[in-house]
Amino acid sequence: MKIRKLYIERSAADYPVTRHICSRLEMPAQIIDNPESVYQEIARSPDPEKAGKSILLLARNRGAFLRDCPGTSYYTCCGYQILHIGTYCSMDCAYCILQAYFHPPVLQFFVNHAEMEASLQQHFAKGEIARIGTGEFTDSLIWESVYPLAPRLVELFSRQKACVLELKTKTTVVEPLLGLAHHKKTIMAWSLNTEAVIANQERGTAALGARLAAAEKCRKQGFPLAFHFDPMILYNGCYAEYENVIEQLFSRIDPAGIVWISLGSFRFMPELKPIVARRFAGSKIIYNEFIRAIDGKMRYFKPLRIQLYSRVIEAIKSRAPEVLVYFCMEDDEVWQKCLGHSPAEKGGLPMMLDQRAARKCELSGRFPAG
Ligand code: SF4
Repeated sequence: MKIRKLYIERSAADYPVTRHICSRLEMPAQIIDNPESVYQEIARSPDPEKAGKSILLLARNRGAFLRDCPGTSYYTCCGYQILHIGTYCSMDCAYCILQAYFHPPVLQFFVNHAEMEASLQQHFAKGEIARIGTGEFTDSLIWESVYPLAPRLVELFSRQKACVLELKTKTTVVEPLLGLAHHKKTIMAWSLNTEAVIANQERGTAALGARLAAAEKCRKQGFPLAFHFDPMILYNGCYAEYENVIEQLFSRIDPAGIVWISLGSFRFMPELKPIVARRFAGSKIIYNEFIRAIDGKMRYFKPLRIQLYSRVIEAIKSRAPEVLVYFCMEDDEVWQKCLGHSPAEKGGLPMMLDQRAARKCELSGRFPAG
């Protein structure tokens, strides 16, 4: 993370987390009363999505720290809960939805951690099995260079039994976590893609081999693992390259240590298209056979998705028949054709994942109703 400017909301200035970050960054900070001036500064930049990656705003989260993942009712959502630690990302993937999701996008880190911990403790006290992750509005581990949040979260989750934390990343910043007594209550997860996609569409992220090496280190320390092939991108030769990634994955990682693998194909809000065209001139990902789906997003024509998923699932299942594979935001037809069952036949996707987490992460608690 290369921070060029540091802004602090006045109401966030007197927090221990703010003081820690200021001493770590050793750069002048500007106290502001209203983030609007920061947003305007970013919006005036010739490349606002890039500008927002080097401006850090320390703020209080005034909303809920725990919230439901914003899936839509049209596709099967996994029922995951987001721990809202901050927004945006210092890496730069062409397909990143966050470029279009925030207006304008800015690196924002929430500093009222006592309130965050209180929300978590309230949740833990329910004794209900839950999957909670920080990698939806940001990458889970990019913040470690400014504040050691992940070790604190691993420790908090290790002291209860019903909930599991999933830290999802494209980085390799795992050293601070390796010696921790996690009690299997943190799943270390990596987004994986082909080497061509990583090289051409994911600026500033770790190489595939480095991600797998980091996963291996975590496995040696007993962390449960997960992998997310999302977004899978169609291009000439992609099938063989995705199969090669799976080959590499299982040549290094024992399937017994994997809680789940998710698959999702490239999809985007129409507002993302002009951003990708402007910022990633060499990228061809937005030019393909897309249809506008019922949720308003552009998706590959369904038979193309089914073909790609089927090839990848075959490769996974031939090496790891027991691993739970699921789709992020797909419909029953895709599930039936690629996995041979709908989520409903197995109790629904949230229940499938809760049961799997309970078994692999040794959770105990009530399964949520419905
Ligand atoms: S790593 Fe994730 S959050 Fe960061 S730019 Fe890439 S897609 Fe976006």
